[in-house]
Amino acid sequence: MKNLLIVISGPSGVGKGTIVKRLLAENAAASLSISCTTRAPREGEKDGVSYFFISRPEFEKLIAENGLLEYSNHFGNYYGTPRAFVEEKLKCGDVLLEIDVDGALQVKRAHPEAFLLMIAPPDKEALISRIKGRGNEQNFNLEERLARADYELSKSGEYDRVIINDDLDAAVAEIKRVIDNKKGDIL
Ligand code: ADP
Ligand code: 5GP
Repeated sequence: MKNLLIVISGPSGVGKGTIVKRLLAENAAASLSISCTTRAPREGEKDGVSYFFISRPEFEKLIAENGLLEYSNHFGNYYGTPRAFVEEKLKCGDVLLEIDVDGALQVKRAHPEAFLLMIAPPDKEALISRIKGRGNEQNFNLEERLARADYELSKSGEYDRVIINDDLDAAVAEIKRVIDNKKGDIL
């Protein structure tokens, strides 16, 4: 069976990280791409696990060498997917990319067979309470984050599926079902 490049996007705080952890725990063959970023690590984040935390000049060198499958700028920092890392992992199983909409649409252009999933909140109040409840960020601007959430969700029409993360178990089950269907289609 062909391995899938699965892209997961959605507003910050919607539950992408939580969902991805569950998907990885339930599919031993799948792996998560580790992105490069120029943002500072948050409390508890480890280099090479959450992200590869690199400097701006290092990131710009990767761009110049075409070493990134996609990249974008988010809240003033660069984020990008290391190309060789993903291509290597795809040989062994499905690969999940947890990236923003700008990056996801770049991936779709380069890899039309990629499967794009948008994770949406049940409503704005739930999103706000999840952002506030996560509690590992010192400084964030809620208005800026909600404006960005509106922008991300406005691109839902370009995704293959939109999954509402209301009940976590139901959202994970739905994602597993649509991935299985997609894999069935490309057998
Ligand atoms: P993201 O990776 O999209 O920024 P996280 O996975 O960090 O979001 O989730 C943000 C917060 O929302 C976390 O505290 C997480 O436990 C919580 N959360 C995730 N999914 C749900 C859900 N379905 N219902 C309630 N809380 C959730
Ligand atoms: P955070 O700083 O909260 O970890 O991530 C901020 C945003 O950057 C999220 O929307 C996340 O999906 C996005 N992001 C993380 N890694 C990448 C990446 O490699 N490429 C792109 N385009 N976006 C990313």
